[in-house]
Amino acid sequence: MKLSKIVERWPTACIVALDMRPDILNPLFSELESLKGVGPAIARPLDRLGLKRVKDLLYHFPTGWTYRKAVQIVDQADVGQNIIVTLAIANHRSGGSARSPLRIHGVDSEGNYLTLTFFGRTGGWAKKQLPVGETRVISGKLERYGDELQIVHPDHIAPVGDAKPVALVEPVYPLSEGITSNRLHGLVLQALERLPALAEWIEPTLLANRNWQGWSQALSTVHQRDDQAVRDRLAYDELFANQLAMRLVRASLDRRKGPPICGDGRLVSQLRLPFALTGAQRRVIEEIEGDLAQSRPMLRLLQGDVGSGKTMVALHALLRAVEAGKQGAMLAPTEILARQHFANLQASLAGLPVNIAILTGREKGRVRESVLMGLADGLIDILVGTHAIFQEAVTYKALALAIIDEQHRFGVSQRLMLSRKGQGVPHLLVMTATPIPRSLALACYGEMDVSQIDEMPPGRTPVETRVISEERLPELVDGVARHLATGRQAFWVCPLVEESERSELAAAEQRAAMLKLRFGDQVALVHGRMKGPEKDAVMDAFAAGKTRLLVATTVIEVGVDVPNASLMIVEAADRFGLAQLHQLRGRVGRGSEKSTCILVRSSQISETARARLALMRETNDGFRIAEEDLKLRGAGEMLGTRQSGESPFRVASDEQVRELIGAAADDARLLIDRDGGLEGPRGEAARVALYLFERDAGVATLRGG
Ligand code: ADP
Ligand code: MG
Repeated sequence: MKLSKIVERWPTACIVALDMRPDILNPLFSELESLKGVGPAIARPLDRLGLKRVKDLLYHFPTGWTYRKAVQIVDQADVGQNIIVTLAIANHRSGGSARSPLRIHGVDSEGNYLTLTFFGRTGGWAKKQLPVGETRVISGKLERYGDELQIVHPDHIAPVGDAKPVALVEPVYPLSEGITSNRLHGLVLQALERLPALAEWIEPTLLANRNWQGWSQALSTVHQRDDQAVRDRLAYDELFANQLAMRLVRASLDRRKGPPICGDGRLVSQLRLPFALTGAQRRVIEEIEGDLAQSRPMLRLLQGDVGSGKTMVALHALLRAVEAGKQGAMLAPTEILARQHFANLQASLAGLPVNIAILTGREKGRVRESVLMGLADGLIDILVGTHAIFQEAVTYKALALAIIDEQHRFGVSQRLMLSRKGQGVPHLLVMTATPIPRSLALACYGEMDVSQIDEMPPGRTPVETRVISEERLPELVDGVARHLATGRQAFWVCPLVEESERSELAAAEQRAAMLKLRFGDQVALVHGRMKGPEKDAVMDAFAAGKTRLLVATTVIEVGVDVPNASLMIVEAADRFGLAQLHQLRGRVGRGSEKSTCILVRSSQISETARARLALMRETNDGFRIAEEDLKLRGAGEMLGTRQSGESPFRVASDEQVRELIGAAADDARLLIDRDGGLEGPRGEAARVALYLFERDAGVATLRGG
């Protein structure tokens, strides 16, 4: 496999190398059609569930359980319970009309009646299953209907003494139309018969301490009963395989050695900045330069709160690359931010012999062509842009440094696609205002170095935050009038509407119209559905002070820098995440003026929402806010994976990632330290795990070296 292929899939390497897979896994990777009774008709709903191979079925875990109570007489059960009871069938009663249900009466061993009710076309079938005079074992949910007890559509009807008795606990599976939970369970049982005996890959003491079952035992248990330890073991396997693969890939990248970047300082020394760097910025720049000078590719996370000056750090790193005759690329999460970075960097670079270009979805035709050519022949030194900069058609002459800004806006899979754009392996710097907990950093990157900007540029006055109820909107508008009268500007962010961008837009348009009545042409509106140039024009006019009150949907969340804007209003603030509110608040407080952020809350809000807003009022500390935010939301959501459904993990939940990834990382590290070639007995077992979870890119590195 070519290295570029591996890099492309790093860190969630997921390629099947059919020729290499150990034979012992073959039964697990065979098609579901190889199971008894699986034809095209059932293959379709299975496919919709993402189930193609035997292994997929085994890892399709129950999401719930049906518990049943076996009773002799119906009185022993409560209404609402799932019961199993043996009944003698007494009679069939069809209703008067075609629409009314079929009622079949059964009698228990003490002569109590129970009605079995069937709607629609199931009647004919039911009559055959339940002939009068026969005895049947019935299960289903006991209900009361008038003064009768009934079961509507029993879920099992079996002859007495049937070889497969109705289970007391039965798994409930995620389903799609065309397959029942019962049927699925039957297939799972068939699949379980094919489980190979695999050697254990988990470190023995860990296995013992956690009291975990062996792999095949765990897989059959997980379909039998609700058992957290068993689920954890199975999730751990996936995390372990992932950590192992990332470590192997990383080790191979390290061996591969990219070109060290040793700038001579000639460009950096020509920079004329209107301010001195903070101590924290200088320290972080030094850390990055230290990394760049190594042939081992940098993988560093730069954390710094909103407004801490990360862009300047990026600029210094980029200039180092250019000084060394290489190229650098900086990826922004939104078009607006890409343009702003471009404008800022361009301004800072004025007079320096550095070519900087921008590439977003909007650059088309001739402009795009010339950027692509400039990158390929090395005329362009620095490229700023959105995802467009790592599209297939974009080739660089000598990309040596990739910077990803505000990474939490990116999906996991996009993150390292840039890596394959250089010859050799480019250095990678990820910048974020949202501190990433170790568990998430491990899950996404494996081990990663972290730098922190823990100091704000001087002269910032902390933003004062107030929370008011939406009922006080009229007063708020008066407040805005007084604010604008002093010559300053303001942002007005409209509610986040979950369901649709369209209704979000409607709300913003309505608000802008209302504010225009009062403030006339001073009001501008910007939203996510605007075309690029239109959006730019609005932002430019606001930055230039031509408009004074910018009504916006959340498009301004990241990065807009207008120092004269010192008032931020967020409507329906209780609908935003804390980290998002913190980002929004970071848009003000950039000048020397005292700034204010007003969080407008809905009139009816929950205790938690109230507490969250109170936290915003209490602290400006992004780290604390991020921590709270993570507690409230899942890890996946924070990584921006929730909507796109691209968590790198199929088995492990966010919770399990948090819980178990530390141990998995340690375990993987120890194993590789001891047996880097995975050749010992545990190494062999671990290789199998890599194939099982289709992290075979990790194995490929062992072959290619
Ligand atoms: P963030 O870390 O949120 O990306 P930016 O890089 O956008 O922050 O910087 C925020 C603002 O602070 C910008 O206007 C930038 O020019 C300014 N700035 C950056 N570094 C300094 C500094 N050392 N002293 C004063 N202002 C600075
Ligand atoms: Mg920034």
